[in-house]
Amino acid sequence: MSAVSSIPGKNHAGSVEACDVIVVGAGFAGMYMLHRLRKLGFSVKVFEQGGDVGGTWYWNRYPGARCDVESMQYSYSFSDELQREWDWSERYAPQPEILKYARHVADRFNLRPDITFNTRVDRAEFDENSNHWEVTTSDGRQLRAAFLVLATGCLSNARVPEIKGLSEFKGKVYHTGHWPHEGVDFTDQRVGIIGTGSSAIQSVPVIASQARHLFVFQRTPNFSIPARNAALTDEEREAFRRNYPEIRRFAREDSRNAIYAELPDRGALDDGENARRAKYEERWEKGGLTFMLAYNNLLLDQAANDTAANFVREKIAEIVADPATARILQPDNHPIGTKRICVDTNYYATFNRPNVTLVNIRPHGIEEIRDHAVRVGGNDYEIDALVLATGFDAMTGSVAKIDILGRGGATLNQKWSDGPKTYLGLMSAGFPNLFIITGPGSPSVLSNMIVSIEQHVDWIADCLAFMRGRGLEVIEATRQAEEKWVAHVNDVAETTLYPQANSWYMGANIPGKPRIFMPYIGGVGVYRKICDEVAAKGYEGFAMTAREPERVVATS
Ligand SMILES: Cc1cc2nc3c(=O)[nH]c(=O)nc-3n(C[C@H](O)[C@H](O)[C@H](O)COP(=O)(O)OP(=O)(O)OC[C@H]3O[C@@H](n4cnc5c(N)ncnc54)[C@H](O)[C@@H]3O)c2cc1C
Repeated sequence: MSAVSSIPGKNHAGSVEACDVIVVGAGFAGMYMLHRLRKLGFSVKVFEQGGDVGGTWYWNRYPGARCDVESMQYSYSFSDELQREWDWSERYAPQPEILKYARHVADRFNLRPDITFNTRVDRAEFDENSNHWEVTTSDGRQLRAAFLVLATGCLSNARVPEIKGLSEFKGKVYHTGHWPHEGVDFTDQRVGIIGTGSSAIQSVPVIASQARHLFVFQRTPNFSIPARNAALTDEEREAFRRNYPEIRRFAREDSRNAIYAELPDRGALDDGENARRAKYEERWEKGGLTFMLAYNNLLLDQAANDTAANFVREKIAEIVADPATARILQPDNHPIGTKRICVDTNYYATFNRPNVTLVNIRPHGIEEIRDHAVRVGGNDYEIDALVLATGFDAMTGSVAKIDILGRGGATLNQKWSDGPKTYLGLMSAGFPNLFIITGPGSPSVLSNMIVSIEQHVDWIADCLAFMRGRGLEVIEATRQAEEKWVAHVNDVAETTLYPQANSWYMGANIPGKPRIFMPYIGGVGVYRKICDEVAAKGYEGFAMTAREPERVVATS
């Protein structure tokens, strides 16, 4: 038994199960958290509402789903054997392969015995007498643990829009984030898809190739860059593996977004028109998210950003044959990159197919959904099936669904009613011994998330080992440190163009959600240094309390 679980607590009746740490969620974050903590000798129980590991890749099985960070980088780095033995088949692996990888990791590291599937964590209350979390699950189990880790995912709470008549629709309705496991065959069907974010941009070309007709209902056009996806050769995989130490180091320490890439040394306006165009062409041909790394000021300077945005708008006009359709597809209400940029295979070209119709819903929205039609501007678009590619209540949605009570019975939802407040995105003051992986206030969704997940998991694991080694029972973010960090996160965001977009980074896709720029934009490398320095200074900004006698050993 570890030191933490030997901490005396309230004497509970036999029905309460105890462990050192409860982890909520078994995506890439929960799986690695379990692995690290178990290796340190902590007893851990993981709860996952889905039927298997994989999180995002368990739920998002829509046609065309794949990662948009290259698989050789969008993969765990914690085990050299793992990264040497697993062969990714394509530059951007499709969802089934990523899920297979997650399952392989679960089996290889024997994670399943400590994960309970098909079970939600519904409630968690901090007991100030025993300094333990008391947790209730959807099957009525009562548990207590010294620590609670939310590995609940930033994009795991699918958003269903409120549209008049939606529940009355007589055909089948699918959400991209909850796709049926047996798949869907749209052959000979008239299909409507609502939303044109990343999931739609990936699925539209595939659905269009099956359906009799596809209607794409678009409110806000998004910028998308060709993926240039292709099979990976043995030589390419080997080249990556040879350079893995440097690639992984760079992603962790030097990068802004946890992706290994050549960093730009100049701004967009430092080049003349021809040179700039050549550079954008080169990036466009290369494909992928690194398009935005053509210049170092694209997200800082509006005039610089305009040059990249105009380039992509021109590309759309070149690809899409009908000028009116091209105009509707050209984003015009946000700087390029300030909403997560999309990566596609033949998205814009799909609108040249005779069986695809783009319906602009920006002027009036969708009036209503009828038995077998979507009504826009007085016209009924007859469909047999409807796909909701309407995204997620991002970053805070899944946390908010758990009833979390901290000191004095205060709920996290009350505390975050004006927007999420955390210290380093890892903890929130008033909620001791509760950690969040890739929480708001950390680089999170602005990065290659597996790198950010590994960084948070390692930091939390090291912190718990530190506490155990010193007989410490409670860790809690101080209010001062939290306020300072929240102000810093906002200050950094304000120096960029990001807050100009009505993005899910800002909570703008959810009616009534406070408009706060949630992720930390200072860069993955910078952020890691800050976290490491905080730990090196004895967890500066956190109050840590010893078991007996009570004393505070580190505050700021
Ligand atoms: C379609 C799509 C494509 C993406 N592509 C990329 C990409 O290319 N690169 C990238 O970096 N990121 C990408 N992401 C982001 C992706 O979410 C992360 O990369 C990563 O998979 C997150 O892992 P996670 O474990 O933190 O969360 P998740 O994978 O979301 O897992 C969280 C799990 O927690 C479970 N859970 C939540 N609440 C509870 C509860 N109360 N009780 C029990 N279980 C609960 C959920 O069921 C879920 O399985 C993508 C996201 C989506 C939706």
